[in-house]
Amino acid sequence: AKRAGGRQYAFFEPHMSTNAHEQLSLQTELRQALERGELVLHYQPKIDCRRRELAGVEALVRWNHPVRGTLGPSTFIPVAERFGLIGQLGQWVIEEACRQMKDWARVGMPMRVAINLSAQQLHEADLVERIDAALRRHGVAASQLLCEITETVTMEDVNTTQEVFGRLARIGVFIAIDDFGTGYSSLSYLRRLPARQLKIDRSFISDLETSADARAVVDAVVRLAHALGLRVVAEGVETAGQRDILVGMNCDELQGYFFARPMPADQLVAWSRRRPSL
Ligand code: C2E
Ligand code: CA
Ligand code: CA
Ligand code: CA
Repeated sequence: AKRAGGRQYAFFEPHMSTNAHEQLSLQTELRQALERGELVLHYQPKIDCRRRELAGVEALVRWNHPVRGTLGPSTFIPVAERFGLIGQLGQWVIEEACRQMKDWARVGMPMRVAINLSAQQLHEADLVERIDAALRRHGVAASQLLCEITETVTMEDVNTTQEVFGRLARIGVFIAIDDFGTGYSSLSYLRRLPARQLKIDRSFISDLETSADARAVVDAVVRLAHALGLRVVAEGVETAGQRDILVGMNCDELQGYFFARPMPADQLVAWSRRRPSL
């Protein structure tokens, strides 16, 4: 019976049907959204600890859905990855981030922008060329762009990672290893990657004030990263206590709700002009 059911059988599994239908309809809508321009980038400040000023921003994609309201990436990035839309979505992010960087430079507020790259994008043969082309098209210096790639993804396919990172570094784009601490990459592996930044995963930061273990891990990661010539960024900083601990540990940059939530581009200009005490 199972064999005869084939693909349809799986489709009628009660616990799957809603999810499958939901994903299918989201997929159709996401295709339209890309055409209709319903996606937007929000930007979250990264704070330079030593200079106590804005070090740059991370671009985080949002979907202004006509019916469902604003959707976060966790609802639609997996759909995009599963249905082959991540290439188009990723290209839109690259293009939009470069356009925005040009815009900020024009109003006298040049900004280093980080974009997130998914595993599938790393396997696109022309990824680096397209990033290079977008930078040129908008007249933005490559060193202003940072690509964030999760530690787990960098370990999935070591050869591809090394090759793509090498090519990104050669055109002058900076690389950050995201969500660091959730994978188990080795010291020798990290040394071989031309990355500039290590972003410590939020799970360690949220435990800083209550867990001596979390403090020991973060402290060790900061020292390790510095020994390898990398800047360390802590993500998900939500309290003054966490900030103080991280500054004490010599962390280079902080990012999190304590400073600012991700916001639309126009609000960022106002936010940075207010020059909040950091
Ligand atoms: P991520 O790269 O680790 O981004 C950080 C996430 O943590 C963001 O969630 C951000 O809004 C959130 N966050 C920042 N500060 C705090 C804090 O203090 N507390 C808490 N609880 N959360 C904080 P968001 O925007 O929902 O993005 C989720 C994930 O979606 C990102 O994780 C990233 O992996 C992915 N993503 C976002 N934009 C893109 C994109 O353009 N392309 C791709 N491929 N993935 C993206
Ligand atoms: Ca990120
Ligand atoms: Ca992260
Ligand atoms: Ca994450």
